[in-house]
Amino acid sequence: MMSLATNKAVFLDRDGVINHDPGDYTRHISEFTILPTVLPAVKILHDAGYLLIIITNQGGIAKGEYTAADVDEIHAFLTASCRQAEAPITAIYYSPHHESSGKSLSRKPGSLMIERALARYKINPELSFMVGDKMRDLEAAAGAGVKGVLIPTNAPLSEYLHLLLLPRT
Ligand SMILES: [Mg+2]
Repeated sequence: MMSLATNKAVFLDRDGVINHDPGDYTRHISEFTILPTVLPAVKILHDAGYLLIIITNQGGIAKGEYTAADVDEIHAFLTASCRQAEAPITAIYYSPHHESSGKSLSRKPGSLMIERALARYKINPELSFMVGDKMRDLEAAAGAGVKGVLIPTNAPLSEYLHLLLLPRT
């Protein structure tokens, strides 16, 4: 059967990849700072034909550190910022769960968020990447058949674009 999954995507972790991760939770929009090279970098990825999809654990919701409304406010700001930078985000998936309150397949290293996005947006995992700053990001990617790129926390994303833009055979 012919695959309908012809799109390609870069899946991006949020905290420490998109925005500065201070080392614990980003609880409120006042603590949310997009890292300096991120907007130009995602514009380049968008122009190269990648869908941009955020895949983020937000277990602080389950732990009562902040609410889903706080996360939604941050994500509305992030969506608007990327749109303004002409790098529209296709979707943001977040898992509100945490081990302390029960098992979840969506929380990374589970791959369910990525698998949902692959199906919803007809994405070919073999053409796609996940960029993260934790091993659990790469484990989630591997579980969905997506290549992972590990970068240091709060590293400039622009310096890793060559790993995502290699000519493919
Ligand atoms: Mg992270």
